[in-house]
Amino acid sequence: MAAAITSFDKVVSCLAPEARRRFDRMYQYVASEAHVLPPPAMEGWIAGAFKYLAPTKEGVLEAIRHQPIVHVMNRVTGQGTLFNAIRSQRPIEAKAATDLEAEIEAARAKCSFCRPLELTPANTFGRIGEKKTCANVAAYDGYHGLVIFDDHNPLRFRHDEFRPAELSGLLATARAWAEKCHAEDPEARFFFLMWNCLWKAAASIIHGHAQMTVARKFHYGKVERLRRDAAAYKKEFGADYFADLVAVHESLGLAAKWGSVTALAHLTPAKEREIILVADRYENPDLPAALWRALKVYAAQDVKSYNMAMYLPPIGPADPAWSGFPVLAHFVDRGDLAAKTVDVGGMEFYASAVVSADPFALAEALKSIADCGMRIAD
Ligand SMILES: [Zn+2]
Repeated sequence: MAAAITSFDKVVSCLAPEARRRFDRMYQYVASEAHVLPPPAMEGWIAGAFKYLAPTKEGVLEAIRHQPIVHVMNRVTGQGTLFNAIRSQRPIEAKAATDLEAEIEAARAKCSFCRPLELTPANTFGRIGEKKTCANVAAYDGYHGLVIFDDHNPLRFRHDEFRPAELSGLLATARAWAEKCHAEDPEARFFFLMWNCLWKAAASIIHGHAQMTVARKFHYGKVERLRRDAAAYKKEFGADYFADLVAVHESLGLAAKWGSVTALAHLTPAKEREIILVADRYENPDLPAALWRALKVYAAQDVKSYNMAMYLPPIGPADPAWSGFPVLAHFVDRGDLAAKTVDVGGMEFYASAVVSADPFALAEALKSIADCGMRIAD
């Protein structure tokens, strides 16, 4: 039987001694069961809503009465996730994107990003690639810019013509923008690159775009937190946190090697289907193709709205405080665009992520997604 978060105990107990020691110094977990007792008047509704759980009504009710919960925490960073296995067994129903594509097309007529030179502001140093970048009209930080994609349609990643070369272009443009900021102000070193796709992911403009900021003096809190946690780990165990993070995921079957980039189905995801790409450096020639594959996994899983966020060491002269800090590209699925509720609440902001997608199922998708058949050489 394939590994699953519901049988996490079994997966962990099969680890070889050294892998187990590594796992134990990085993670802790506990399995629980939620006992839910539905009254007779609810039984009909439950049998319909959760029909994927069992072939019979009594089987469905039994699954609802005893729900396995797995709670995993990264002891180093404090990132924790609660997995509800009942929800994780929900089948992926690929819905037609026809209405969504129509809504995206309808926004084209009034789209400022389709006419960037007329309708978007510039940064002090102008634009990179004539029209590819602009300043954010309501800035988050002193340096805040956007890369405007050539194609209006943010779901381009789902289409066959989408190629890794577009992602190498994005990385180069974003980096060139950040270097301009750094040249203007040497204290601006802390480059952050993100990409919010569609409104569930907090994008206010439909037209595909990525965003860059460069913080001055110190990095963004969550990136700095991770640097400190990794340094504390090295001090305590004499081991590299990021190498161990990859090794733990590999030993559990939650990693795929994409050239020199490793793709992790994160064991403590921030929300649904979190993928982390670990690369040694921003210029790694395998990185654009790895980003492309992560997006193709999302397309295959019918993800339409997601956040991508990249953690990077500072630009400029080498900083010993950041030595060994890799490039981490995070992807997280933000759920159904038709749902009115947001996918994060009090639990996620203040306690723990609550996740339904099984990281072991995501790992299988990472391992089976085809290569694009090309390596970006520059
Ligand atoms: Zn547009």
